[in-house]
Amino acid sequence: MNSMTALASRSIFQDQFGRQKRKLRISVTDRCNFKCSYCMPEHPEWMNKKDLLSFEALYAFCEFMVRHGIEQIRVTGGEPLMRQGIVHFIARLQTLKAIGLKRISMTSNGHYLKDYAQPLKQAGLDDLNISLDSLDPRQFQQLTQKQLQPVLQGIAAAQQAGLSVKINSVLLKGINDDQIMPLVKWAQQQKLELRFIEFMPLDGDQKWNPADVVSEQDILNQLKTEFEISRSQEQAANPARGYLVNGLPLGIISTITHSFCGDCDRLRLNAQGEFYNCLFARQGLNLKADIEQLARDGFATNTLKDKLHYYIWHKEAGFHAIQQQAQTQKPIRKISMHSIGG
Ligand code: SAM
Ligand code: SF4
Repeated sequence: MNSMTALASRSIFQDQFGRQKRKLRISVTDRCNFKCSYCMPEHPEWMNKKDLLSFEALYAFCEFMVRHGIEQIRVTGGEPLMRQGIVHFIARLQTLKAIGLKRISMTSNGHYLKDYAQPLKQAGLDDLNISLDSLDPRQFQQLTQKQLQPVLQGIAAAQQAGLSVKINSVLLKGINDDQIMPLVKWAQQQKLELRFIEFMPLDGDQKWNPADVVSEQDILNQLKTEFEISRSQEQAANPARGYLVNGLPLGIISTITHSFCGDCDRLRLNAQGEFYNCLFARQGLNLKADIEQLARDGFATNTLKDKLHYYIWHKEAGFHAIQQQAQTQKPIRKISMHSIGG
């Protein structure tokens, strides 16, 4: 079978390594009220508001994607709660559960959650990941340029509203790695699932350095001084490696030291319609016009299907393969978490 025949015989959401795509992340804005040092550039160049896809267009794309096998949609940003109309959008996504969507999730910095938690729950949000990198108010302020208190209030509001909440913490060496113990103890007290994330080369100013990464092993070494640690059952396609800390769950997303790319089932769309088959993809696919046409006509053209099929099929093996290429080839795009959506 030649490569074109092989391509034509596959599901349009399968890549060349046999990985079927089931999760879609949608960034609804690149704007954010925080300025996390590991994410936002010093001088952000925001997307032009008129270039953003409308919620109508985003919904049409989500519907198309669910019809082709997407089971989970995560809404992210930037800060997704900064986009007006977000609760209504979540409520509309609910209708896709009738055609195969299983979960609707969001990742937020938590700052506005005090007011949004209950409406999001009512709109049908299933899961909420909230970022929290420090419990020390001064350190939190240094890391994010915002106050800690509203985030803690937001987390409490989300729990009260009955949302399923996970906490994400990015650790930077010498900056907030003293928070490993406090965060684990706090999360256990609050009955919240905590996931540490290794710092990835996705900061807006591209200052990432391997020496700044707090690795999975560094985290475990610290925890072992006070806790009983064991591995827990892995869930397929879950980016976090699971541990039990004194019997309670902890996840570590160790993209740098234990990449989960072999099982990756994710696709991404940014707020202005650029589609990415990988967080680290050197080049995206501009689908804005195709998605707007899809929203207008109510059906997908073969051009859109063919473009997606081709681009998804050619997804690279993963982070390490792309890093190797980057050593010999010039970067095609500046990769930044706030604009692609984490
Ligand atoms: N503003 C929301 C938030 O902070 O949760 C959603 C968008 S943010 C880009 C999504 C996730 O990406 C957050 O958990 C954040 O900590 C993570 N993130 C951002 N930059 C990162 C980096 N360079 N390395 C690892 N994780 C990063
Ligand atoms: Fe904003 Fe989230 Fe990036 Fe922090 S990690 S600057 S909260 S988008």
